[in-house]
Amino acid sequence: MNGLDSVDKSATYLLVNFAIVQKIWDDTIVAVATPPGVGAIGMIRLSGKEAVNIANQLFPSKDLDVQRSHTLHVGSFSKNGTVIDEVVMGLYRAPRSFTGEDVVEISFHGSPYIAEKIMSTLIDAGARPARPGEFTQRAFINGKMDLAQAEAVADLIASNTEASRRTALHAMRGGFSEVLSKLREELLKFSALIELELDFSQEDVEFADRSEFYVLLNQALTITNDLLRSFQLGNVIRNGVQVAIVGKPNAGKSTLLNALLNEERAIVSEIAGTTRDTIEEVLNIDGILFRLVDTAGIREHTTDAIERIGVERSLEKIQQSSLVVYLFDLMDMDPRELKKIKAQFDTDGIRYILAANKMDHADAPEVMKEFSDFQDIIYISAQSKQNVDKLKKMFVDKVAKGKIDSEETIITNARHYDALKQVDKSLHDILSGLDTKLPLDLVALDIRRCLHYLGEITGEITNEEQLGWIFGKFCIGK
Ligand code: GDP
Repeated sequence: MNGLDSVDKSATYLLVNFAIVQKIWDDTIVAVATPPGVGAIGMIRLSGKEAVNIANQLFPSKDLDVQRSHTLHVGSFSKNGTVIDEVVMGLYRAPRSFTGEDVVEISFHGSPYIAEKIMSTLIDAGARPARPGEFTQRAFINGKMDLAQAEAVADLIASNTEASRRTALHAMRGGFSEVLSKLREELLKFSALIELELDFSQEDVEFADRSEFYVLLNQALTITNDLLRSFQLGNVIRNGVQVAIVGKPNAGKSTLLNALLNEERAIVSEIAGTTRDTIEEVLNIDGILFRLVDTAGIREHTTDAIERIGVERSLEKIQQSSLVVYLFDLMDMDPRELKKIKAQFDTDGIRYILAANKMDHADAPEVMKEFSDFQDIIYISAQSKQNVDKLKKMFVDKVAKGKIDSEETIITNARHYDALKQVDKSLHDILSGLDTKLPLDLVALDIRRCLHYLGEITGEITNEEQLGWIFGKFCIGK
């Protein structure tokens, strides 16, 4: 066997056994693509070999068989001579469609009843109801997109902020895949040369330039580490950030919550400790969702039983939160006590903002001087909304300083994160293998392992079970 053969072999090893997967895709699937309920227009989508044929049987107005791809046709959708609705048929012929198969999109008047009637008629005519994500899965199987892109389709549909939309779109258009496939290609080249050396192992030759290989491996490590690090931000973008607003009773927490939300939701009260329950509200700042939790005061010594429950909840919320806003009444705080609180946050590794409230008070400028030791206090007035915008900006800076608008690839998917951790580990193994002059066949194994995990992200390597798991999370019709 020569070395190049072994490259082919490893490439084959890297490919999904598409043939097996493809066998179950002979049928034509159908699903309602629009959300449930009444709308001006509803849309049902057919995909598969029989899509045009099935639609044609139910569309006496025109012969769809002879129509070109990417055309629209108005006419009546009929069952046994009875017209169900006036519809528009959109025709996309393979491979120039979302799924890569023949696709017919039927737009009808958006009544759930009509949707059901058209669906059952299409099923009677030979279509099968699609499983969740099956359209996108077919797009993946037919090579219209790789796995990371297909997953980004689901993320894009689920996106609810500017940042999550942008990240998902970037991934769907192949931004993330491009980084990985470039890396894989380079590694494959070296893998080929190393395998070649293995074949000539008796002759002590080196085809793979070791210094070039080191450079590549270090580049790969940098890329992998950047991606792994971006996951924290990815999580922030995808899931939002839990923010706890804590402080003593009467510090102004409820007032601040209202100011942040710009509407009067929580009950504001003069009586200490009246915010009994935890209230969760969501705030969208610069495309990041902050889940605000206003809690009862975190005063340690309390005699009121109900309030004590609130206090426990408050401590629990601090532990659960990614960001804590410690709000205090500027006119009612001892700097020494604040120092202790700050030290506690630092010891516990909690991300926090110290916010001094009621700066509108006449004596505030005088009192502020007592806090001149603190570099990081933000002075606000929850009541007059002074500096509340500045506080909002601080929220973003604390979790994603300057990174939200950048064009860099951000990982948002835990599956990708896990695979990248394996890539990182195998890259380290390759490097230490080279350093310690490990037998080449063992290094070759680590290289293959690295390629395997890279391929797992984009779907060059996968199995049916995994595909089912990924696409099962989609909604039906996508
Ligand atoms: P909580 O117990 O921490 O939720 O505090 P509240 O939001 O109920 O506020 C306690 C009291 O402080 C209320 O009378 C508020 O009107 C008042 N308050 C809140 N924020 C400010 C502020 O910025 N300036 C002034 N002067 N009073 C405030």
